[in-house]
This record gives sequence, structure tokens and C-alpha cells, in this order.
Amino acid sequence: MNIDRRQLSPAEQLLWGYGVTDPSHIDLVAIANDKGAEVKFRPLGGCEARLVARGDSAIISVSSTSSQGRQRFSLAHELAHWICDRDRGVFLCAKEDIGPQNSEAKSVEGHANNYASQLILPTYLVDPWLKGRRANLDVANQLSKEFSCSLTAAAIKLVKQYSAPACLACHSNRGLVWHQRSLSFPSDFYVVGQVHHDTAAFEMLFGVGGGITRPKAEPANRWISGPQTYRLEVIAQTVKLPDSTVLTMISLNR
Ligand SMILES: [Zn+2]
Repeated sequence: MNIDRRQLSPAEQLLWGYGVTDPSHIDLVAIANDKGAEVKFRPLGGCEARLVARGDSAIISVSSTSSQGRQRFSLAHELAHWICDRDRGVFLCAKEDIGPQNSEAKSVEGHANNYASQLILPTYLVDPWLKGRRANLDVANQLSKEFSCSLTAAAIKLVKQYSAPACLACHSNRGLVWHQRSLSFPSDFYVVGQVHHDTAAFEMLFGVGGGITRPKAEPANRWISGPQTYRLEVIAQTVKLPDSTVLTMISLNR
């Protein structure tokens, strides 16, 4: 594997230093132990994960009642605190603090999420894997299996690394919760605040439907607003998430 180390993020450099050249090599518990942190999975009241640091050692506790993908992200998030913010001692991190969708905030939590995303989905392994693949949720699902992460984390990474215009949107029945654009998604296009009543996402949110749709060509203005969007078409694919929100990958069809 040919890598320019100067291009790697700090989390990727850590993985590279441990000889990680395949997603199956990313053993977060082993890395935590090597860095002096013991990891415990157990029921936690009131928070999703926590770090208690004392000198050169620490205990990381991760809520054992969450999904496996979430537990892995939480562990990576606390590991980020241990490596980057250890002088602060104790971290009690709530569910809202931890998640790949909160990685751009300029805060200690945002930084830990960004670092965690790179530990779980390092760009130097993801980019070669994504080569030639499309931005849709089926590909995100394969990526999540390959890298043992949640579908949401994989879909966010996919759209961030995607070269063509695409956008990932999460809606609840009250409106748009968050979204992530690919770099080439036009800056004057916006994801609609409410899901359109002619979409499968609407049925999933307000009816009893669940599961995942097939990627489908739809008029762009069902999903995005902006100049000339009424002339455009998108490919949209939606999945219902366990928290009852819907996640949709939208890519411009041209
Ligand atoms: Zn935190």
C-alpha cells in the first residue's frame, strides 16, 4: 500500500503506525489498551459513554445497551478524548454529543467525533474502496459492513468523499434534522425542510412503512430547492432509521 504519510489525519497516522492496511485490522479495544485505557461495556445511566482519566491510565465505559455500530463509535469518541484532551480528566458524553453527523462543530465534542470518524472510516482505506462506486444507501450499507460501523456513519463518509454532486439528508416528522453535502454539491441548492408528500420517505415518516427503498429517479424539487431545480432530476433512496427518522441519499441525475 502506497501512502503519503503527510496527507494523513492524526487519527489515520495512529492507525498507520499500528500497521492497519485493512478495515479488519482496526481493533479499537487493542488500541485503547495499548494507550493505557481499559474498556468496559456496561449499562450506563444518563450518558452514552464516559472517560475517567488518572495520570497515564484511564477507564473508558461504553453503554452496552446501544447498537454495535453506536458502541464502536462511542468507544472511538472516548479514545479521541483520551488521546487529544486527556488533561481535562473526566468526560461524560451524552447521546447528542456522540455521532458522525456532529463532526464539523468547532468544539471539543465536534473534534472528538471527527477523530472518531477517521479512526473507524480512515480516508486512506475508504477512498480506494469507494472507487467506481455510486452514492446510494446500498453502497453505504456495504461500506458499513466492511468497516463495522453504523449505516449513518458510512453514508456520511460516502457522501463526503463522493466526487459528483450528492447530499445526504435526515428528516424527522418535524422537519430536516441535519444534512451533509458532497464537495461538488451546488452551494445554492438547499435540502427541503419537510419531506414531500409524493415520496416514499413521507410514507415512512407518517405511515407505518419501514425498511429501505430502491434508488429511484424523481423530480429534483421534491428534495432540493435552488435555481432551475424544477428542470432537474435526482436519484433518491431512503431508509428508516431505528430512531424513526428517515435518511435519504440524493444525487443529481445528469
Ligand atoms: Zn465527548
